[in-house]
Amino acid sequence: MSEDRESFVRIDRLDTSERFLQERKLIVPNTARDDLMSPSEWEAGPRVKDALQFPQDWGPMANSGVDIKLDQGLFDAVENYAPPACPACKKALDEVGHWDLLEWWAHNGEPAVECPECGTRNRLGDWLADDPNVVGAPSVTFNNWPPIKEELAAELLALLGGRARQVRAHL
Ligand SMILES: [Zn+2]
Repeated sequence: MSEDRESFVRIDRLDTSERFLQERKLIVPNTARDDLMSPSEWEAGPRVKDALQFPQDWGPMANSGVDIKLDQGLFDAVENYAPPACPACKKALDEVGHWDLLEWWAHNGEPAVECPECGTRNRLGDWLADDPNVVGAPSVTFNNWPPIKEELAAELLALLGGRARQVRAHL
């Protein structure tokens, strides 16, 4: 009796995001963590302005650290939320039903959703929204930074790989 096992494991996505941002001096380890004012593991680095669409908007503020997480989370656009639209016919999902589907996603996996208008089925994360509510990991979150440059956003999405999404939340 013997067993064999063949695995393919991606081990460096999280590390890659950290290294990428550190090498560009966009983040440095936060050496003065504080639950209220500075809870993140990372804080802005000396070249933070290179990351921003409008560098002049950068100023010191509370909770402006960076979180890089491997744990799955629900990323909610909060005030930027709008119910997503069917990729085929652009009909928007019912908002209450959408929250039920997100709840399902967080606990059971991503559902495929049939459009009540045209009958097309698409995974929930493929429904269209400017700032989609999605569940996933790993993730990089810039807290309270002014808008990130589009080039950097594109690089981060590519680094994360797979079906990565950008969620700009406004609270
Ligand atoms: Zn449709």
